[in-house]
Amino acid sequence: MTDLVRLSAAALAEALGAGEVSSVEATQAHLDRISAVDGAVHAFLHVDADGALAQATAADARRAAGQDVPPLLGVPIAVKDIVATKDLPTTCGSKILDGWVPPYDATLVTRLRAAGMPILGKTNMDEFAMGSSTEHSAYGPTHNPWDLERIPGGSGGGSSAAVTAFEAPLAIGTDTGGSIRQPGAVTGTVGVKPTYGGVSRYGLVALASSLDQAGPVARTVLDAAMLHDVIAGHDPMDSTSIDRSGGWPSMANAARRAEITGLRVGVVKELGGEGYQAGVRSRFDEAVQLLVDAGAEVVEVSCPHFEYALGAYYLILPSEASSNLAKFDAMRYGLRVEPPGVPAPSAEQVMSATREAGFGAEVKRRIILGTFALSSGYYDAYYGQAQKVRTLISRDFEAAFGQADVLVSPTAPTTAFRIGDKLDEPLAMYLNDIATIPANLAGVPGMSLPSGLAPEDGLPVGIQILAPALEDARLYTVGAALEAMLLDRWGGPLLDRAPSLEVSV
Ligand code: GLN
Repeated sequence: MTDLVRLSAAALAEALGAGEVSSVEATQAHLDRISAVDGAVHAFLHVDADGALAQATAADARRAAGQDVPPLLGVPIAVKDIVATKDLPTTCGSKILDGWVPPYDATLVTRLRAAGMPILGKTNMDEFAMGSSTEHSAYGPTHNPWDLERIPGGSGGGSSAAVTAFEAPLAIGTDTGGSIRQPGAVTGTVGVKPTYGGVSRYGLVALASSLDQAGPVARTVLDAAMLHDVIAGHDPMDSTSIDRSGGWPSMANAARRAEITGLRVGVVKELGGEGYQAGVRSRFDEAVQLLVDAGAEVVEVSCPHFEYALGAYYLILPSEASSNLAKFDAMRYGLRVEPPGVPAPSAEQVMSATREAGFGAEVKRRIILGTFALSSGYYDAYYGQAQKVRTLISRDFEAAFGQADVLVSPTAPTTAFRIGDKLDEPLAMYLNDIATIPANLAGVPGMSLPSGLAPEDGLPVGIQILAPALEDARLYTVGAALEAMLLDRWGGPLLDRAPSLEVSV
């Protein structure tokens, strides 16, 4: 079967269940695809062909034994390189962790293994998940499969590019300010940030602990729901983890237009209009119109404090990051650099030389910003104020969800920009997450769903769906229903229109 790699995860799971294909064949097909296209895409930092095939063999044996057959048994997956994987490199896209091989698996990886999902490898990302383009990776950028000259979003551009280029049916991302949803939008794929605490953070290298959340990266809403089901649930190793799992695949499967009837959809006034590319706006408006046609009641809602979300985020995130990254001290993990010309360097000198050599410019920028914001005398003026804004944003959400069951907005203000275009302009880069950051600050779940191609450049646009905390299910029912209507309109998946990337080998 030559088109194995183009199957959705759900379809592949069905083919595996029917005995039409083995996990070894499916995994090998994806490894072959990686060999063929990843030289151009660079979605992966590390491919574990032997490990993946061994896990696939085990999955096939488990299926043959027949007792315990989880739904995604044998379906391979790619994992963002910020997630600790036992015996597999975990670099976070940073030189400072070059060569670090964790001695343990993150809880979500333990769950993937328990579900029998072979891990194909680790995906590229902006260094320590700081960025919106994957250009801040110390190992070179990932290229958007729709146009290799363009960015695939970030920080999880590797995971989204991998599913877009059919190198993996599913991937894991992490979203601190939009790093699952914004790459989903600019690659025409589906990305879900669960409710904060919905997926254990144990074993994720922390960026900003109060914002970080891992979630599914997929090509369809159902696939995202199936993966979310595997990784969600309470974990005693993460004190912020909540017990919430189950049922999403059946909701995604059952979603019909009828379920949209009477649904109250809130269009967030502050997340649209000026600053959003014309084609992003028109595809968004069309998607909202589809919801109206299917019987939804659309209201405009106002979230007046969202205007300050970006400012608050860029104080809270660097503050937490500066503290979290203090552990990279040359003593415990990865890189160690002795300062040249210093005969008996002190621990502090080694630490300083290592951090100078090991961290990239964006990471240093944020460490300096965060250290400053937390310093005595400034704490109340910056960090304290940002936390107050955070509360106001949560209250805006509460009020908005009083008027609407779900909120919608464009996921990102523009389609994929060209590699290099915003690299020297940190503030322009930060603006990519203007629509995604409020959800992280409030801990609510969000999904990005492809809503079409922008007429002016032919590149994918995403619509963001937001639900109240713990109501992740609404993302799947509304997302699946809207996806079905959009597919009807397009006459097939959006990704069918992406370049095939076939290269001569
Ligand atoms: N682009 C945002 C940032 O640079 C989001 C990052 C993320 O979600 N990890 O902080």
